[in-house]
Order: sequence, then C-alpha cells, then structure tokens
Amino acid sequence: MLEMSHLRVVYGSGSDAVEAIGDLTLSVAEGEFVCVVGPSGCGKSTMLRCLAGLMSPTSGEASLDGERIAGPPERMALVFQQYGRSLFPWMTVRANVEIPLRAKGLSAADRTSLVEETVGAVGLADSLDRYPWQLSGGMQQRVAIARALAYQPEVLMMDEPFASVDAQTRADLEDLLLRIWAEFRVTVLFVTHDVDESVYLGDRVAVLSKSPSRVSQEVVVDLPRPRDQLTTKADPLFSDLRTRVLRSIRQEPRSPAPLIER
Ligand code: ADP
Repeated sequence: MLEMSHLRVVYGSGSDAVEAIGDLTLSVAEGEFVCVVGPSGCGKSTMLRCLAGLMSPTSGEASLDGERIAGPPERMALVFQQYGRSLFPWMTVRANVEIPLRAKGLSAADRTSLVEETVGAVGLADSLDRYPWQLSGGMQQRVAIARALAYQPEVLMMDEPFASVDAQTRADLEDLLLRIWAEFRVTVLFVTHDVDESVYLGDRVAVLSKSPSRVSQEVVVDLPRPRDQLTTKADPLFSDLRTRVLRSIRQEPRSPAPLIER
C-alpha cells in the first residue's frame, strides 16, 4: 500500500548540506498498523513530508498503491501533534470535521452522516455543536481523528499525535485508535518517540537510526489482539519486545543467544 524505496533527503547544498535521511526502505501493507520510532532529529518528520507529497526526496521514491507520490495524495489523511493548531477555533466540531469533505463533492446529507458517524465513533456525539475551545486537549485530538476518518482515507499518517496530552488521556486515545482502526480497517503509519506506545499499538515497529537515517531494525509485534492497557502491558512478551526496540534505538550490541545445557 505504502512504499518507501531507498529514500534519501538532503537539505541545502554545498558546505551547508544536511543529509536528513540516508537510505530509507520501508513498506506498509494494506490494513497494517506500522509504528516508526527513532531519536529526535532522525528524520521522522522529513519522511512524513515526503509521504504526504509536501516535498520531493533527493533520490529514491515513495509510492502509494504503486503510484509515485508527487503531490499530496487524495487517499491519505494526516493527524499532527499540535491539535490546537489543526482545528479552526471559530468553527464548531461539526464544521471542523466537515471541511475536507466539501472538496470531495459529497451531498450535504452524505457529509452530515459521515460527520455524525465519525464524531460518534470517537465518543463526541454530544459535542457536535461545541467549539474547540470548549473542549479538553484530548477531546480536541479526538476531533482531529474524526476529521481524518470522515475523509475516508486509505492511509492514515499520524505524527506523534498523543505527545501533548496527559498520560491517562493518552492511554484512552491509544485504545480509541485501536478500536477505530479495527472498525474502519484503515492502513496506519504512526510516528512516535515513545517505545511502549509503538509496541502497544503496532503490528510492526520500524526503528530508525540517527540521522542520516535508515531502518536499523524491524520488530514484528506478535502480541494478540484485541489489546488492552493492563493485560497487554503485563504480558512478558510486551517487555521482551520493548527491550528489543529500546536496544535497537540505543544501538547496543544484542546479548548472545543463551546456552542450552543438556
Ligand atoms: P525528527 O522529526 O525525527 O525530529 P526531522 O525530520 O525534523 O527529524 O529532521 C531531520 C534532520 O534534518 C535534522 O538534523 C534537522 O536539523 C534537519 N532538517 C529538518 N528540516 C530541515 C530544513 N528545512 N532545513 C535544513 N535541515 C533540516
């Protein structure tokens, strides 16, 4: 569905050149939930800019459904960390969620039912006619998620979407996201620097190395679904996986395989 092949991005030129991404190859299958983690400054935002068609890579390519991404793809929606800046304060929740649908040429009745369905799915049916400033940070981020879903994207890209909310709200939003991912069967690429979050949510975690980045390791998360904050995080496999991801981020050598004595 989503493919990055030998993506390389250099900002500037000559002695000011910064190689943000070295050689990034990663693919995300239809319906898959892939998390990307890596240290700050490793090129995660740059990667998303290429995927969203907001910039062209210096070399290599990004493609969606086999088509090279040359501009913002219609079938993709983005959710950013800064929910406060992504909603229009003078518009109600209903109007905020409806905006991108206007460009799709849907009838007013179809737009209304999509808005009500997705705002209901994020648990905010009672707040349809409220304004963003009347909502908590977590609720505003749920509106941003509803807006992305109402657009009916094939791919949902999320850039540290829960980094600015408190821990309890974050856990609630993670669970909400897993529920709607299962319900809407959308393909998700989720960027975070939180290792626990990446293991809790993903089918797979791609670890990026320091800039100029490349995928230093891909960890398959074979934790059963549906997941929940208590049981999943208490599963010994969860701690094994988070240790593997952390080790890969720190680039520590892996411990040798244990000796089995007979
Ligand atoms: P992350 O999102 O992982 O923190 P970024 O993609 O923002 O990483 O940045 C990767 C590298 O590219 C960093 O070294 C950063 O300083 C550099 N960089 C990002 N944007 C620009 C830009 N517009 N011009 C020059 N260098 C940039």
